[in-house]
Amino acid sequence: MAGDGTIFGAMLQEFDEAARILNLEPGIWKILTSPRRQIIVSCPVQMDSGEIEVFTGYRVQYNIALGPAKGGIRYHPDVSLDEIRALAAWMTWKCAVAQIPFGGAKGGVVCDPTSLSRRELEALTRRYVAEIIDAIGPEKDIPAPDVNTNDQIMAWVMDTYSMHVGQTTTGVVTGKPVELGGSKGRREATGRGVMIVTLEAARHLGIEVNGATVAVQGFGNVGSVSADLLAEAGAKIVAVADHKGGVFNPRGLDVAKMIAYARDCRTVDGFPGGEPLTNEELFRLDVDILIPAALENQITLENACDIRAKIITEGANGPTTPDAHKQLHERGIFVIPDILANCGGVTASYFEWVQDRHGYFWEEREVNERLEAKMRQAFDAVLQTGLTYAVDMRTAAYICAINRVATVTKMRGMYA
Ligand code: NAD
Repeated sequence: MAGDGTIFGAMLQEFDEAARILNLEPGIWKILTSPRRQIIVSCPVQMDSGEIEVFTGYRVQYNIALGPAKGGIRYHPDVSLDEIRALAAWMTWKCAVAQIPFGGAKGGVVCDPTSLSRRELEALTRRYVAEIIDAIGPEKDIPAPDVNTNDQIMAWVMDTYSMHVGQTTTGVVTGKPVELGGSKGRREATGRGVMIVTLEAARHLGIEVNGATVAVQGFGNVGSVSADLLAEAGAKIVAVADHKGGVFNPRGLDVAKMIAYARDCRTVDGFPGGEPLTNEELFRLDVDILIPAALENQITLENACDIRAKIITEGANGPTTPDAHKQLHERGIFVIPDILANCGGVTASYFEWVQDRHGYFWEEREVNERLEAKMRQAFDAVLQTGLTYAVDMRTAAYICAINRVATVTKMRGMYA
């Protein structure tokens, strides 16, 4: 239910707002707010100690009107069906906003990957894939990396699926190593997209990026690349925080050194190039640009009033609660919503899937150029929709997405 305190409820609240403006037919409304398929699996794994642990895994295929389902796999102790369902719905709207021919899905396993050995992680991944094997495939549902999963884990996904079907099937998963059918530029694509839309927003608002101050929450794949590319574009990264703590330096942090530090220490906490900083303090900083790139529900009614940034680019999925978003919008803060801001990752995943199917691979320059064109096109379409309907960027992005998915749903008709 919309607004019931769940993550899926928050997604529905955002959806309903746009659907009302569009005057969406009740039947289509029902279809688009119902997850198509939700799978729960148990994955037994023999641990290094010899004991057997059983891990719970999920895969939700939310909607496949536009094409095969697409969405990442998350490993985290707090993974729940509610969270995965919401993330699968957001993938549906994101693919529609990005104008790529995919539906939306998401997967997750309840585990703490930092406490697992490499062998245990591989065994868990292979068992999880074996449990959902009938539901995935290059024409059905194509996983990708998300929080705490990476290209090595995607290689195990690809190998497990390939062993089951008896042939190497690179197109079953994206975000693979480049040597194994991955795409150049995919690893950086989400952060690159975040950088591109942030520059577009700054241009629209008349903010000079050169010297603009930036705070980033989360320094994994999305946060670190966003910080690195924004610094390259001339912005000054003054604060970064992750699950352990953060650092602040008003003169600017050395992002390249911080990436090396985070690789070795698995956190930015203790980085010697600045003063210690908490996540709470990061949101209160007087910066031009704020990039939440960690998890859901980080910007709430409790801290939204302290935010002073002019632009918020949602690198993470669902970092802002609907009530907090309303408050930010009323205060004139320009929020680039998740389903637009971080769609660079799935766009490059689409490029990877296309290359795998052709067996012909592009140079990084070509990937980056195509990505930039797609991101700008998506940003412009959402901005224009926002101006036409006189709504914020999030509602505008939902209007674009719902329009596209509703149109093809009606074209396809009802199979019964
Ligand atoms: P990651 O695992 O590489 O990094 C996650 C980062 O968040 C780490 O720095 C971690 O320390 C930090 N973090 C975790 N819990 C935190 C907390 N409670 N407080 C502060 N920081 C915390 O994950 P990622 O791939 O960078 O994904 C980050 C977000 O971006 C997620 O919401 C994900 O769904 C979204 N996203 C990722 C991609 C992608 O291509 N990887 C694409 C689109 C959206």
